[in-house]
Amino acid sequence: MPTLPSKSPARPWIPKAQPTVRKSYQRHAERSPLYDSPRWRALRRAQLRQEPCCRACAAKKRVTPAVVADHIVPYRNGSDFFDARNLQSLCTPCHARKSAQEGHVRRKQAASTHQATPSLRKCPQWLEMAFRG
Ligand SMILES: [Zn+2]
Repeated sequence: MPTLPSKSPARPWIPKAQPTVRKSYQRHAERSPLYDSPRWRALRRAQLRQEPCCRACAAKKRVTPAVVADHIVPYRNGSDFFDARNLQSLCTPCHARKSAQEGHVRRKQAASTHQATPSLRKCPQWLEMAFRG
């Protein structure tokens, strides 16, 4: 007697569902492949072992376990990616705040040098300025 296959047949034309929750190191790996290197992982581990509490929280007299080894001077700004002296331990909220601040500064700099970001192109004032010549 014929039986139905236990698994649905392979349908390669249908893209596989991507996991929606990604770990922070995976998001970092998208930004720079250096985050995926064994050298970075060892450096990050050493940093968090040496400074296990969030530095920003400590400045506010709070004790919070750190989970992020953060570049004090962003490596995009030309600092050495693997310079241990340029690292600080942060908790997730403090790191998010710092990253958001850095992104804000970066966008502001891009706007001032007329390197409009896509979001800026949607800005009517920018369009007006761009087409006025
Ligand atoms: Zn913190």
